[in-house]
Amino acid sequence: MKRCFSIWSAAVSVIVLGAAWPVHADWYRDAQDIMGTRVQAELWHHDAAAAQDLLDAVMAEMRRIDHAYSTHRDSSELSALNRQAAQGWAPVSAELYDLLERSRRVSELTEGAFDVTYASVGRYYDYRAGKRPDPARFDEAVEAIDYRYVELDPDGPRVRYAHPQVHVDLGGIAKGYAYCSSSRRCPALDRPACSPAESRHLGDRGVEPRRGIRDPRDADAMAAVLPLTDTAVSTSGDYERFFEEDGVRYHHILDPATGRSARDAWSVTILGPDATFTDALSTSVFVLGPERGLALIDDMPGIDAIIIDASGRLRYSADLLQAADGGL
Ligand code: ADP
Ligand code: MG
Repeated sequence: MKRCFSIWSAAVSVIVLGAAWPVHADWYRDAQDIMGTRVQAELWHHDAAAAQDLLDAVMAEMRRIDHAYSTHRDSSELSALNRQAAQGWAPVSAELYDLLERSRRVSELTEGAFDVTYASVGRYYDYRAGKRPDPARFDEAVEAIDYRYVELDPDGPRVRYAHPQVHVDLGGIAKGYAYCSSSRRCPALDRPACSPAESRHLGDRGVEPRRGIRDPRDADAMAAVLPLTDTAVSTSGDYERFFEEDGVRYHHILDPATGRSARDAWSVTILGPDATFTDALSTSVFVLGPERGLALIDDMPGIDAIIIDASGRLRYSADLLQAADGGL
């Protein structure tokens, strides 16, 4: 019998297949709306009460991260930072410092395609209401997009913004981080590496976990199905949050260079060992587009990408193409 654990979200899932498990086991599930998405967790366990405790711990951790880092909550630590850091050094928790540091490393790696200060402009979009930034404010706000404006004190957990209009949002990395952090609460996930936007699939003992990539233009159809083992999976798509105006799609992944929705892809899926990293990379490669994005991924051992480009064509990183040739 296999031991399984999974967390599902709009674009996230986790399955763990571990060592043999004694006697009778069953699936236990929970689903809650957290971080603006539906978080679903599933656990294969032999003890109902223990399974419920684990599911509760996972959801509580997701909620804690949402309360700390959501920019939709005035009371969050990140909202407080956004109010204070343009005036001077503001103390932050070690966790927020760490998240900002990791974000900066991804910005450096992607030549600024990933940039948490995208929100200097992004905060003026309201996708539900179909609103975009006022043109009078837009040019000034774009000037405030640059991850280098977020200064991290090397001597301690303090942060300051070197531009008065900077606004930070961690939406491109927080779900992956929340996945990693909450799965640590679950002893079934006993491996050190972690993952998220969204999902992680562990183990290879007979059952092969699979994950579908949604058709970006048909919510009920799959564009591809991947066999997955020991892998985190994150997908970024232009269909998650968007509105259309005069035939133009305004969606939630912005190119930091222009402050406008990135246009070169419909969906990007990243596979790799760590969910926080795959989450940030799916957003980054979406911005970079197929050519630059695949060049970056092909330079990174252990990371793969599946891109649906802006003409609806599937594109794969070199390792996946090789695996497919070898009969994946
Ligand atoms: P999803 O929300 O569909 O899982 P992503 O993981 O790509 O997709 O996250 C998209 C979120 O990332 C946006 O809602 C926004 O909060 C944030 N974001 C948008 N553009 C950027 C960018 N260029 N760099 C970093 N974060 C971004
Ligand atoms: Mg992401």
